[in-house]
Amino acid sequence: MIQLADYVVEARHASEVIGAVRTAAERGLALNVWATGHGSHETLGDDVLRVTTTEMNEVHIDPARRVARVGPGARWGQVIAAAAPYGLAPLAGSHPDVGVTGYTLGGGLGWLSRRYGFAADSVLRAELVTADGRLITVSPDEHEDLFWAIRGGGGGFGVVTALEFQLHPVAQVTAGTATFPVERAAETLAAYRDWCASAPDEVSTALVLTPQAVTVKVMCAAPAERAVRQLLASSITDTLTTMPFGRAAMGGTAAQHLDLLPELPDAAIPALVQAGRQATVEVRHWGGALALPGGPVSHRDTRFSVIVNAQVPGVAEALAPFANGGAFLNFLSDTSRTATAYTSGDFRRLGEVKRAYDPADLFRTGHRIPLRGTP
Ligand SMILES: Cc1cc2nc3c(=O)[nH]c(=O)nc-3n(C[C@H](O)[C@H](O)[C@H](O)COP(=O)(O)OP(=O)(O)OC[C@H]3O[C@@H](n4cnc5c(N)ncnc54)[C@H](O)[C@@H]3O)c2cc1C
Repeated sequence: MIQLADYVVEARHASEVIGAVRTAAERGLALNVWATGHGSHETLGDDVLRVTTTEMNEVHIDPARRVARVGPGARWGQVIAAAAPYGLAPLAGSHPDVGVTGYTLGGGLGWLSRRYGFAADSVLRAELVTADGRLITVSPDEHEDLFWAIRGGGGGFGVVTALEFQLHPVAQVTAGTATFPVERAAETLAAYRDWCASAPDEVSTALVLTPQAVTVKVMCAAPAERAVRQLLASSITDTLTTMPFGRAAMGGTAAQHLDLLPELPDAAIPALVQAGRQATVEVRHWGGALALPGGPVSHRDTRFSVIVNAQVPGVAEALAPFANGGAFLNFLSDTSRTATAYTSGDFRRLGEVKRAYDPADLFRTGHRIPLRGTP
């Protein structure tokens, strides 16, 4: 979604980000960051200064440490291409044009995440301009509270000017999609749910319902041919083949409606099939390393996320009995539901970090963390 802001600073260096932050603070403007525009959820007015980081898109790979260091304007496609010659891969998402920093600050759930976790959990350190215009480093040893908050708490804590994160040893993957007859949507979904119960962590999948077809997207980060063939046994066609990680185009689904399900009982299936007759519905398998503890990204015991790409009357009500009421920040366009992406304890803790580093609420656009604690 493209939105215009009245005041825009096109930053090329951290010093220009500092200048933009100080100007916004002096003039009582909110500060909004724009890298690619993929995660911007609202129309901005004349009380917002936008700093664009698009030009700050450098990418450096340290193959010995398996670490990437990127500027805030870098996109996943750049990191994938730079890491591939070393047999390494980042925890990128479904599209190479998405910005590394916005994606990672919001948690980052990619096609290698069942094996290696949320992208936010792979962050090693960040450089960040705080609301008072200081450039600081956050890491497990420096500003630990802020280091915790930015790994899933979103962009409300400062402007990240550099990010360092772990890469993972993945060169080749087996990936593709399989198609199933739409008349067998309900039984295919049930069989998929059963298969997921014992799926290896190396295999990430999503089942997509549309009015025309049922497809299952598959990516294996390591050989898992036998398990996957079992999943695809009743498919009509499949395109599964081995390829470099960067060539696997998995695609995503824009979220009009999002639910996280702790289980997918038989009773939930009719609502999903019904929604799939009117819209694209992506049922994505979580689990594996996504369930491990880490930063503020919550609802790690989710088994399936459900994304519906259009307004389908009644779908929210039909799924409500099966949903945990939570959300995942990067899949959430509804900014009135931000709090539901966190446990109440973590949301409070995020608010306390926010008060410590941004007491005037300079970073108040998009998903907003309310200030908590004593001033
Ligand atoms: C086609 C598509 C596919 C997607 N696939 C996935 C997926 O597979 N997994 C997943 O987890 N998410 C996915 N997303 C969601 C995506 O991760 C979020 O929309 C994310 O916010 C995009 O970040 P951006 O920098 O590209 O966008 P922008 O709109 O430029 O930024 C979004 C927000 O991120 C914050 N931000 C960005 N840069 C900085 C910075 N330097 N400092 C502080 N805050 C900053 C700001 O709050 C900003 O408003 C997808 C989105 C799209 C459009």
